[in-house]
Amino acid sequence: MLAYWTGRSEGDLSALGSAGGRLATDALQVRVRRTAGIPADLAVYAMHQVHGSGVVIVEGGEGAGCLASAAPEADALVAPRGGSCLVVLTADCAPIALGSPEGVHGVVHAGWKGLLAGVVEKAVGAMRELGASEVFAALGPCVHACCYEFSSSDLDQAALRLGGSVRGTTTGGEPAMDLPAGVREALRASGARLAWEADACTACSPEWFSYRASGDVQRQALLVWNG
Ligand SMILES: [Zn+2]
Repeated sequence: MLAYWTGRSEGDLSALGSAGGRLATDALQVRVRRTAGIPADLAVYAMHQVHGSGVVIVEGGEGAGCLASAAPEADALVAPRGGSCLVVLTADCAPIALGSPEGVHGVVHAGWKGLLAGVVEKAVGAMRELGASEVFAALGPCVHACCYEFSSSDLDQAALRLGGSVRGTTTGGEPAMDLPAGVREALRASGARLAWEADACTACSPEWFSYRASGDVQRQALLVWNG
């Protein structure tokens, strides 16, 4: 499994999730395909992300530009070996790449609501159903506790589901959600192994788009494919 995270310098890729079809594919080809080194014959799949736990199985398509006319409503994409490049768009939520020795691969868009809804566990489960014997994960840049102030009631809800490690503190000393800790716990619960984690907070690093810090409507992309 190969994974590539774009940042602010690669520009806005939000069109991938909303437009579908040729526009999205063209945008990806122009801005990212060459930079990331994605083979020209790989079809690219994005989704319309809704902060839920829906998983869509991508069966693979013929050649480039095989996005559906409308991206499916989901927060995880999983594909059997080869054939497709999967995309997640984020500004502060966690972009997770999933791989396996068998080549089954996946992407997950995980905010706190998706974590509570079990999107990570469902994606890992879908990979196992497709034949993955072992699932490993890489977590890209997302908002960290330093910048993610949370209400006590929401934090209690998250801690009840994901454990006390999600209780963090902002730089200013306010209660905060530790989103990476939540992802780690969800991966642990699903039996997946976290192989790599970006040490980057999207909200306090200028390299990334951030909705919370800057109100950015632009999105960065995680792209996952088999090399
Ligand atoms: Zn921060």
